[in-house]
Amino acid sequence: MKAVVYYEHGGADKLIYEEREKPKIGEGEALIKVEACALNRLDILTRRGVVKTTATLPHILGGDIVGYIEEQKGSNLEIGTPVLVYTAITCGRCQACLSGKENRCQFLKMIGFHTDGGYAEYVRVPIRNLIPLNPKIPLEEYAAIPIDYTTVWHALVERGSLKVGESILIWAGGSGAGTVACRLAKLMGATVFTTVGSADKAEKAKSFADYVFNHYTDDVPKSVKEATGGRGVDVVLDYVGSATWRKSLECLAVGGRMITFGGLSGFSGDVDIRAFYTRHLTLIGTYYGTKPDLHKALEFVEKGLLRPIIDSIYPLKDAQSAHIRMEESKHFGKILLKP
Ligand SMILES: [Zn+2]
Repeated sequence: MKAVVYYEHGGADKLIYEEREKPKIGEGEALIKVEACALNRLDILTRRGVVKTTATLPHILGGDIVGYIEEQKGSNLEIGTPVLVYTAITCGRCQACLSGKENRCQFLKMIGFHTDGGYAEYVRVPIRNLIPLNPKIPLEEYAAIPIDYTTVWHALVERGSLKVGESILIWAGGSGAGTVACRLAKLMGATVFTTVGSADKAEKAKSFADYVFNHYTDDVPKSVKEATGGRGVDVVLDYVGSATWRKSLECLAVGGRMITFGGLSGFSGDVDIRAFYTRHLTLIGTYYGTKPDLHKALEFVEKGLLRPIIDSIYPLKDAQSAHIRMEESKHFGKILLKP
């Protein structure tokens, strides 16, 4: 099969399109013929070696997978069934798994991060990660869903408990996660503030956010304070990390909560401890989401409420160009690879 692999960490030029052996499946596993695989920032951090994984090199990236069952051992699912892949491989036996909190499994592995992923014609995954589809939108668009939608749903609905009438600042509203978060927050009845990095992205973001700022040229905390009469917002969703951490805390109203599920610009940030407690702030960490989160998000997509915003689709062999587009932040929405 054709696949994109890297043999050493580094730039996009380390991604090599080549012939690889088709994976062999064991009991309880399925071989998926990949229809499309979406890019995530995690792919870039993993390729660069910034985020460490236990996977050995050479490695195949890609955790956002939709495709067809090519082969399977241990279920009655029919060959050729279109399926979406839940990205987290969990033990199914620990206390977290048994209480429906599988994204807290102590043995959690992410497909495409800890194991070979979907930058290939075929990928091997556990059968219990499969969600059979009766596609309501073009099949390839489903690739935008597993990571961003599940993560964002868990962050805003389950962990963040965003409420109708609240205000939320979502950094980088043009990213895959940002486009989902802004629209979900609107559906939940919140007033949405977001940031983008260019004028043309600002135009697009205005279709789903109430306030749009430029995170390079605007003083975001000052702009948020001005727009809220000096109060600040109830919630900030920050997955940018070091570059925005302090500003996020400044944007919060008294009693506000900050949700984070990433650190794309770096993993350290400081906190003004006195401001933190005197202003009654809450920090909420969250990682990926559960299968029910993915199912609920999927329902919203299929009802036409949260259709994926696709930036571009690249042939798998052009994975380097796709990575460069993401690294240069030229995209708005999701970038897909198609074998
Ligand atoms: Zn577990």
